[in-house]
Amino acid sequence: MLHRSTAATLRPLLQRSSVQPSAASAVRSLATVAPAGTATPVDHGASGSRSHKIVVVGGGSAGMAVSHQLLYSHGFSQDDIAVIDPSEWHHYQPGWTLVGGGLKNKEDLRRPLKSLLDPKLKHYAANVQGFSPDDNLVTLANGDRISYDQLVVVPGIGINFDAIKGLPEALQDPDSLVSSIYGYDTCDKVFATIERFKGGNAIFTQPAGVIKCAGAPQKAMWLALDHWKRAGLYDPADASKSAISIDFATGLPVMFGVPKYSARLEELRKERGVNGLFQHDLVAIEDGNTAVFARPDGAEPLRRKFDLMHVTPKMGPLAFVKESPLADGAGFVDVDQGSTRHKRYDNVWSIGDASSLPTSKTAAAITAETPVLVRNLTQTLAGKEADASYDGYTSCPLLTEYGKVMLAEFKYGGQPKETFGNLFGIDQATPRRAFYHLKKDFFPWVYYKSYVKGAWAGPKGWGVPLKPGSVAGTAGRTFSTAASPSAGSSVPGSRRGFASSSAAARNSPARRPRDPLDHSPNAVRHALPSGETFIVRPPPTSGTVASTTLIPQPLLSAPTPTPAAEAADRDALAALPPALKRNTRKGAKMLTSEQIAEVQQLRQLDPINNTAGRLAKRFGCTPLFIQIVAPAPKVVKEGRLADAKLRELTWGANKRLAKAERDERRKLW
Ligand SMILES: Cc1cc2nc3c(=O)[nH]c(=O)nc-3n(C[C@H](O)[C@H](O)[C@H](O)COP(=O)(O)OP(=O)(O)OC[C@H]3O[C@@H](n4cnc5c(N)ncnc54)[C@H](O)[C@@H]3O)c2cc1C
Repeated sequence: MLHRSTAATLRPLLQRSSVQPSAASAVRSLATVAPAGTATPVDHGASGSRSHKIVVVGGGSAGMAVSHQLLYSHGFSQDDIAVIDPSEWHHYQPGWTLVGGGLKNKEDLRRPLKSLLDPKLKHYAANVQGFSPDDNLVTLANGDRISYDQLVVVPGIGINFDAIKGLPEALQDPDSLVSSIYGYDTCDKVFATIERFKGGNAIFTQPAGVIKCAGAPQKAMWLALDHWKRAGLYDPADASKSAISIDFATGLPVMFGVPKYSARLEELRKERGVNGLFQHDLVAIEDGNTAVFARPDGAEPLRRKFDLMHVTPKMGPLAFVKESPLADGAGFVDVDQGSTRHKRYDNVWSIGDASSLPTSKTAAAITAETPVLVRNLTQTLAGKEADASYDGYTSCPLLTEYGKVMLAEFKYGGQPKETFGNLFGIDQATPRRAFYHLKKDFFPWVYYKSYVKGAWAGPKGWGVPLKPGSVAGTAGRTFSTAASPSAGSSVPGSRRGFASSSAAARNSPARRPRDPLDHSPNAVRHALPSGETFIVRPPPTSGTVASTTLIPQPLLSAPTPTPAAEAADRDALAALPPALKRNTRKGAKMLTSEQIAEVQQLRQLDPINNTAGRLAKRFGCTPLFIQIVAPAPKVVKEGRLADAKLRELTWGANKRLAKAERDERRKLW
């Protein structure tokens, strides 16, 4: 193994030592090493030349985010950046869990890969077969070679259905109740089997070893449990008497890798009567109805009959990465956990599933990894220090039932790093409805809206500093608001904040309407903190010099009533139908002191479910009365407030703008 410094020293020597200039070096010579952001374009030579400033291997979540963030934030030119990926479709994989719960259609979660790539990126629809990092070359499956100055390796990991004997056959069999959310072809079988299942033993598995989103296997289970509960087939309070029994068989010794969330999930498991089979690693399916689990320390494998099984297959590095000089001992791209730079090759970078970064492999992690990689890579191109560092941030929205999610967020070392906990002082280990909306509605929306354009920085919101006018359809956006140096991984110059300003976009000349201020000397323009403006014009009824409405007008004054006119009015009134009865609805019931004591007790016992509205209905009084005699505890009020604030995060730009404008107007009252 070469150390980075040794490799850097040896590389020119190795290049010089070749007697004949190899095809590779001939190609490489076309590339220039101009600093990012300068006007100097890469010399791509004749059309079809295969030399790029940056080559990105993989157009998945990481490949999309990195290539677009590089393109938009650092002014690269046409074909400076190449993306190599053979796939026809790009998938929003986190949505497959929602498909498994019957909440989304899988077709809605994918887009043609090509349609997501900015035309300024060169796309090679091909498989990469190997890397020659000493020669700055990648080799495609057809033998073509592409040279680079900087290489980003983000091809994800492989899902090895074959590693469990009998699994591929069971998944393909439409009659078997074996399914998995871990594949486009299989994820819609999950809900179909859950709906069909009316009784028997259901097993949900999680393998030992690295997988994508370590919480997803149990998300599938919690949703299924909730479905069966609602269908009257499973009673969590009395699981042994239910038609269905549920096993969670995991290769891990605990429910989840982070102690804080694991403890709460273990409580849920026990409360809901789920049988835990810890350190049980599924290795085979026999006879279509028997699961075989390997046990640690040479213990006998366990064979267990099942009627329905949801399987999380084994996963691991792709062979072409594992067998390359870029791999570490386990087969992942061997990068520094702070800088995301390769440990031996200075111009090679990796994040996402394929990397050796010791954190949970999620799309959320990539939102924090991308700005670090982009900063360090472009600093390097500019001959400056790679000064950004990734802290291991990752997140797992654990669906614990329909309507509730526990939002696990943590960094290296399994340390919680909670966005909303820090913002609103709430405990994210408590499953919440607002987090459910994030998972079900907001994340899928923001993924194709901003994430794949490199413009979504997870907890930092639209906090990626992009060049004005750079992202298609968002010309002029700044993508940043209030700075918070403490938040997130340290990327110099990055900012935190969920709100984005579309001020420039709205005021851009092409779309600008006639300015109403030009024609009304009394109109006043008010500025919002985001830079947006709104206009207040005087109400049309207020008096002005030109107005005559306040001056007495003889022709408009009320006529003096005559006796004949009054009699006519009386006749007209008599002809009308009788007046409506006064509202005789009885007022709310008065409660006795015993009832008030009962209300107070109920409120204290379960303040979340015993809301003022529900108790008012039950006791026949008004919600206001309940709020007075038994106010909700402070912590519940704060929790509700936090939920409301969380829901605000799912608002689009227009809704947020309207709210900011309303707040500002209110101050003028
Ligand atoms: C069921 C499921 C649930 C999940 N839930 C969540 C969740 O709730 N939250 C969350 O944040 N994350 C979740 N994830 C994880 C998340 O989807 C991944 O971590 C993320 O997509 C990884 O991105 P990536 O770019 O590293 O890899 P991928 O998105 O897998 O992309 C890899 C790309 O590389 C390409 N490629 C592969 N081989 C080659 C080759 N030889 N040459 C060129 N290109 C190649 C592929 O075609 C692919 O487009 C979930 C994943 C799954 C499967």
